[in-house]
Amino acid sequence: MSLIYDLHAHSTASDGTLSPAELMQFAHAAGVNVMALTDHDTTAGIAEARDAATHLGMEFIPGIELSVTWNNRTVHIVGLGIDEHSEPMQAGIKKLMDFRQWRAEEIGRRLEKAGYPDMYEKAKAYSNGCLIGRVHFARALVAAGHADTVGAVFKKFLVGGKPGFVPGAWAELSDVVKWIREAGGRAIIAHPARYDMTRTKLRQLITDFKELGGEGFEVCSGSHSKDDVNAMAQHARDFGLLASAGSDFHGPENPWVNLGQLAPIPKGLKPVWHDWH
Ligand code: AMP
Ligand code: MN
Ligand code: MN
Ligand code: MN
Repeated sequence: MSLIYDLHAHSTASDGTLSPAELMQFAHAAGVNVMALTDHDTTAGIAEARDAATHLGMEFIPGIELSVTWNNRTVHIVGLGIDEHSEPMQAGIKKLMDFRQWRAEEIGRRLEKAGYPDMYEKAKAYSNGCLIGRVHFARALVAAGHADTVGAVFKKFLVGGKPGFVPGAWAELSDVVKWIREAGGRAIIAHPARYDMTRTKLRQLITDFKELGGEGFEVCSGSHSKDDVNAMAQHARDFGLLASAGSDFHGPENPWVNLGQLAPIPKGLKPVWHDWH
């Protein structure tokens, strides 16, 4: 029997809408056999998710999606199979969370100046108190009637040049790969087709990442088209990267992204789970 893997998903510990336990129940009902939790910059949901997955008889992979600034761009690195108690990882998380907290307050101040008051408090009410990300602001701005959809809020408020955009530096690529490796995990470049990078830039990122000890590439992502999958598969073959597969599920209200329904790993690639069983 071939197993169904989903190695990238979010809970309410970051910007998903299901609790860690609910996410595991949802994944199990969707037929997933091996499920990861990869919240942004936090491991706070792992214990609850592991418990729920174990009760369901589903294999659980503790993970994280870390925010990185590389060459002035934001890049996401997934860590899979991490020991969430690892000290260097937790110290890194603490710094990222401090930055996130300051950024959330700053987004609130900037929106206030632009004529949208109280958005920090409103965004906070959409988070479970652990982390306030741009998605929480987006949900609050939609609820306040300032845009129709989360996607529209991003365009109007939360991206470069817009009133609620706050520039700043996330973690270094070198540090993030090191934290993941020291925690016993495997580092993976998340949704590589989603970065607005030329082919040359993307290959430069892969070169840097490999030199630092990064091993994986999320060839199959809920946010990749068929063409994206094929293009990313070629990069993975060229660089000898392990292929990963993850939906990047944030909750059932985005019906276009489903748990466990990923394209099969293309031919000639070794999956990131090749040595897990
Ligand atoms: P943050 O890490 O707080 O800056 O937020 C990044 C998250 O925002 C991503 O993981 C996505 O969940 C979400 N996101 C980014 N861009 C968009 C967009 N254009 N539409 C909807 N969600 C987005
Ligand atoms: Mn997210
Ligand atoms: Mn991401
Ligand atoms: Mn994600």
